[in-house]
Amino acid sequence: MTQVVDETLAAVPRGLLIGSDWVSTDATFEVTDPARGEVLAQVADAGVAEALDAVVAAHDAFGGWAATAPRARAEVLRRAYEIMSAELEQCARLIVLENGKAWNDAMGEAAYAAEFFRWFSEEASRVSGDFRLAPSGDKTIIVDHQPMGVAYMITPWNFPAAMATRKLAPALAAGCTAVLKPAAETPLTALWVAEVLRRAGAPSGVVNVITTSQPGPVSESVLADRRTATLSFTGSTFVGKLLLEQTARRALPSSMELGGNAPLLVLQGADVEEAVEGAVLAKMRNGGSACTAANRFYVHESLATEFTNAFERALGALKIGSGLDPAHDLGALVSVKERDKVLDLVHKAEEEGGAASPATGAPAEGAFLSPYVVRGVTHGQTLTREEIFGPVAPIITVQSTDEAVEMANDTEYGLISYVFAPNAGEGIRVARRMDTGMVAINRGVASDPAAPFGGMKESGLGREGGFAGIHEFLETKYMAVDL
Ligand code: NAD
Repeated sequence: MTQVVDETLAAVPRGLLIGSDWVSTDATFEVTDPARGEVLAQVADAGVAEALDAVVAAHDAFGGWAATAPRARAEVLRRAYEIMSAELEQCARLIVLENGKAWNDAMGEAAYAAEFFRWFSEEASRVSGDFRLAPSGDKTIIVDHQPMGVAYMITPWNFPAAMATRKLAPALAAGCTAVLKPAAETPLTALWVAEVLRRAGAPSGVVNVITTSQPGPVSESVLADRRTATLSFTGSTFVGKLLLEQTARRALPSSMELGGNAPLLVLQGADVEEAVEGAVLAKMRNGGSACTAANRFYVHESLATEFTNAFERALGALKIGSGLDPAHDLGALVSVKERDKVLDLVHKAEEEGGAASPATGAPAEGAFLSPYVVRGVTHGQTLTREEIFGPVAPIITVQSTDEAVEMANDTEYGLISYVFAPNAGEGIRVARRMDTGMVAINRGVASDPAAPFGGMKESGLGREGGFAGIHEFLETKYMAVDL
């Protein structure tokens, strides 16, 4: 395979960040560009020994960082926000190169990722406790919060910058130190983010990064090590459950952002134009490779034909091609393997009686895929059960709001839902009935660094962002004091 030559890429470290050093390893693995199928870089391939070195470095740095004044920790994060904001295009370029997504999606992700540094720089000095007389009057109750220690973070390939900063920013704000393990498909953006934190003044050992092609044994050894204090994982429900079995052995606190199977409801009386606009965003942001991507569309029978035709036209107008060209709305999927998994789901839907039509054409070379609308899908069929993670939209016609809510909740997942209702009041009433941690009402995007992100049921444990995010990295300590 040919090797891509690129200035932004050339500046990214390729080693492991352990303490203050970028460490190279004998073994390396390839990172490839899914749009061109070319090799972008060879990065260090950590084994168990290097991973444990990173834990030791993080552990050694913990005491000093925890004792650093919250304001001083905040200033490191604020500087990281400023550096990242000034270099959004470099970050976006790396995201496009290794993940394949469209330029506007990558720029949106880079800005969203930087915002976590800003939000948690503000939160670092706002952690409050409690001081009160016990109801019995026999003592005073003091409640304080303290950083947990070394936080192990595992991130997926679909948001290589934002999933890293959504963990690093609150952990560092809380006074924890970090060992970050990015997905093997997209390690370069995470290495770049770590370098931003170093440039912002994060002391040696506060941020460590291990890239590896063997996430299983490496993570198992890190989680078994008594110096590791907490796990923050974002990825599939399948891997999340495997990790929970491991963290259970040590009763290790675990924050889990897992898979989704988001329903999008278009209720009787909804504004179809608004619903189509929201549906395109909810389905196509990140090319459909998002845990928040609308996975199944329950549309009231009175609007079904109008909505489906308009939605298909809107998808058909999207331009598909290299994410490096800002004129393209839709880039490549992360790999040909991932594209073929999505296509298999389309074929399965056809076998089950669905009518799948590509909304437009896609380049034949590279991991590109046209968006598909699949009509005639019945609730319970494969596309309503599996997380599609690509640009495929199954439409299910419903006869009432009750039926839509019942079908929407009939899943083991509970991350997010989308409700298009005739007015906000009706939207909120229906949102209260959804078994999901987040609901977007009459809009196609909900994520915000200042809001709690997370799921119910098998979509996860805990929340990231908002006021809750920093508490995933803090222990609550109660002190009883005599009067
Ligand atoms: P994945 O679960 O395959 O991988 C996620 C991470 O886990 C990667 O870093 C991977 O290297 C690592 N991993 C894989 N096997 C492991 C093992 N045995 N032990 C330890 N670590 C292991 O997920 P993916 O394919 O990278 O990402 C897609 C999934 O992530 C989807 O299910 C999506 O919904 C989910 N996701 C969830 C959120 C959220 O916030 N809820 C956000 C983004 C993605």
